[in-house]
Amino acid sequence: MSAHLTTVAGVAVNTRHWIGGERVASTGTFTDVSPIDGSTLGEIARGTAREAAAAVSAAKAAFPGWAATPRAERARILHAIADGVDKRLEDLAIVETCDNGALLRSHRRGVMPRVAHNFRFFADWLLRLDHEDFQTRGHTNHVSWDPAGPCVLITPWNAPLMLATWKVAPALAAGDTVVLKPAEWSPLTASLLADIAAEAGLPAGVLNVVQGYGSEIGDALTSHPDVRRISFTGSVPTAQRIAASAAANLTPLSLELGGKSPLLVFADADLDLAVDLAVEQYDNAGQVCLAATRILVEDAVAEEFTARFAEKAARLKQGDPRDEATDIGPNIHPRQVEKIDGFVRRALAAGARAVVGGHRGDGLYYAPTLLTDVAQDAEIVQEEVFGPVLTLQTFTTEEEAVRLANDTRFGLAATVATGDRERAERVTAHLVAGTVWVNCFFVRDLQAPFGGSRQSGVGREGGTWSFDFYCDVKNTVTAPKGFKDHG
Ligand code: NAD
Repeated sequence: MSAHLTTVAGVAVNTRHWIGGERVASTGTFTDVSPIDGSTLGEIARGTAREAAAAVSAAKAAFPGWAATPRAERARILHAIADGVDKRLEDLAIVETCDNGALLRSHRRGVMPRVAHNFRFFADWLLRLDHEDFQTRGHTNHVSWDPAGPCVLITPWNAPLMLATWKVAPALAAGDTVVLKPAEWSPLTASLLADIAAEAGLPAGVLNVVQGYGSEIGDALTSHPDVRRISFTGSVPTAQRIAASAAANLTPLSLELGGKSPLLVFADADLDLAVDLAVEQYDNAGQVCLAATRILVEDAVAEEFTARFAEKAARLKQGDPRDEATDIGPNIHPRQVEKIDGFVRRALAAGARAVVGGHRGDGLYYAPTLLTDVAQDAEIVQEEVFGPVLTLQTFTTEEEAVRLANDTRFGLAATVATGDRERAERVTAHLVAGTVWVNCFFVRDLQAPFGGSRQSGVGREGGTWSFDFYCDVKNTVTAPKGFKDHG
């Protein structure tokens, strides 16, 4: 195996950057480690400002050609990328699992098919985007969706390829070119995507992938004057640094950030359903931005709900994410486990009670945890843990439930469990959140707006909202006079 290839579960992955249709090395590398067993997965190119500049320059050079490519041809190539993802679904699933520790069964059956769908959906949506012309005092208004230019897309490790393609697909469909910077804890599937896109016929320089630490390569990407859009998914502190860096050129930003979402359980809810929804929040070892980590339960059913929850949580199987029977895998990195444990220890010291878990397991496994006796202003209620740690509080009135639900600096999502349709309408009208689910969780249609309120984000993506961001939307007003053919 040559120096720039590594083999992960039998799959060859290139460890270099992908810039202008070529594999490019850096002088340094960083070690990518599997959270499953601590094994080394590869030595990955450690990008610097030099590779960042080269990637933006490649994206800039490729832009005029790609922007001028007819929409139908762009859509054809995006469908070919989706076909390539489908063909390599098993490779992508196992590599992602080894890299970030999320369940193989989810990658196989949910996540990777969704990656392919991202390409198909945005390719098709663009073709439907033409607005009807409209008239103003006899003048014709025509709205067009022009490609904007090179985009920098920066993504996290909790759902690496899914979140990357949620940005890459609409950007490419829009006619933009891309520099993708995946997270340093999960760099591998972005490299496989570069291979798949090249095989599908995407021209050189249209998609570039640079690897490395955000702190080392990020600023050179986000402050670059040739970048026309920056789309970021990750934490609030990083978003603040990116926004400051982008301010120099007033580069438009889309920010998908953290959350501390509530699950409101009313006494009139189907309690089995409510318990299922609550236990589902341990998915991906709690490393889900949308997770409803604050369970708010009406007093009258709190005791029964807690007992049923504890019983169900105890049946979850924690272990190797490659095993089909596993429900919860490891957390991503020793630093992340340390952070999770710090939150729990401080909460317990402040008087919280662990009804479920409350401690580390072996290696990077953290016991699914439910904490009660927590104050609304406690750190554990206000801050995102990003691990399998939930809190439970009780309420007596609908107003109190809504007040507690809205009382954080976040506003990403909220879930309501109730058997009363009118209550559902009243409560959802008052919740501050980008997405609200009623008696369900995680149902996401790509045409729906997705994003966060308050510090959970800036802007919305999905369907037309994605193209609002990735396009320069232009209105052309044409008078009924002045043309020679009109005399
Ligand atoms: P993070 O902010 O630490 O890192 C995200 C990305 O930013 C990585 O690629 C990292 O290398 C890069 N980065 C770091 N410093 C940078 C800099 N100065 N300039 C440019 N890039 C830089 O976040 P994370 O720990 O990888 O991800 C977890 C966070 O992401 C959580 O807060 C989670 O809620 C959030 N998240 C949000 C959504 C959403 O859609 N709202 C989805 C998934 C995750």
